[in-house]
Amino acid sequence: MALSRIIGQDHAVGLLARAFDSERLSHAYLFQGPEGVGKETTALELAAALNCKSEGLHSCGECSACSMAKRLSHPDIHLIFPTPSTIKPDEYAALLDAQVRNGFRDADFGRKIPLISVETVNAEVVARANQRPYVGPWKIFVVSDADAMSAEAANALLKTLEEPPDDTVIILTTSRPSALPATIVSRCQRVPFVRLKADAVERILVGDSRLGFDQKRAKAVAALARGSAGRAVRVDGKTMQAELDRVASIMTGSRTKDVGGLLDEAQSLAYRLGREEQQHILDLMLLWYRDVLLASSLKGDAGPAELVYSGHADEVARQAESMGLDIIEPLIGKIDGARRAIERYSNPAIVFTSVLLDMAIARRKAADRGHVGAVRKVGS
Ligand SMILES: [Zn+2]
Repeated sequence: MALSRIIGQDHAVGLLARAFDSERLSHAYLFQGPEGVGKETTALELAAALNCKSEGLHSCGECSACSMAKRLSHPDIHLIFPTPSTIKPDEYAALLDAQVRNGFRDADFGRKIPLISVETVNAEVVARANQRPYVGPWKIFVVSDADAMSAEAANALLKTLEEPPDDTVIILTTSRPSALPATIVSRCQRVPFVRLKADAVERILVGDSRLGFDQKRAKAVAALARGSAGRAVRVDGKTMQAELDRVASIMTGSRTKDVGGLLDEAQSLAYRLGREEQQHILDLMLLWYRDVLLASSLKGDAGPAELVYSGHADEVARQAESMGLDIIEPLIGKIDGARRAIERYSNPAIVFTSVLLDMAIARRKAADRGHVGAVRKVGS
């Protein structure tokens, strides 16, 4: 994999490539952006490209430097990440081994809090930064989730950041830049990473054979991943299915049969979820209608495998039969508007009540139409 093949982060990659081309690569970068969007992958890819035997900012994937980089065993590429203080050497080795094999490193340590200690920073960064590269030409330090550094660790790193040796690049990554000391941030050039579009997540999942996704599953999972390939890989199917089940029950009206139920549901969406989760729920509502439209265009030929809501294929088919585009289109516009309203910090209770009410009215309208149709059929 080369830097140019990083998916969905054109701005960040372009920034690094231009810096390299004009020989103005910084000695310290801060890759900041949401979790699971490719910050560490890009950092490791940059590290490989800098040390690859081929010309320019490119990793051939085949030279000895590239193959060591791929196995995370290049002596001049150092990856530092938070772990619980009680982690044993073999557990640490197992994490790295899994990362090489699967492309992702498990960062869930249960109730143990992962951090980057001052001992780690001193041994892995400070001491090594002052040595010459073994094979070189560059020494690269990737400090992932740098906001997990203890205050002492940040302090120790600061000295190296203030006077970085010539042949050194230090890359910090974080999804919480405000949790880093201002003194650290001010020493780094910031590189912003963005939330990925669903099709970018899909391409990442399918493109990396280590992850084991086929096209269909990748599409379904990407739709639910909130723009994070990391989340797509990490979150287990159960959590996703629970989200789908909840939204399906809203969309079919089984949770909002009467006004009381409808208001309860709107309140729960408005007050129990954060803004990001609320937008996610609205995205899932849009996906429901995507499924309904797909089912309706295929006239019953839509296999469950093509649907995001494959577990609710019957309910999707029923709405596809009773709801026409004239009913669904305004609802899609409504949900889109709700998404923007949430983004602008509108009152979520009003937003969700209004959306749920419109959907209930639309379902009633579709049911009446179906009823009239049935009566006509009987009468004719
Ligand atoms: Zn190479």
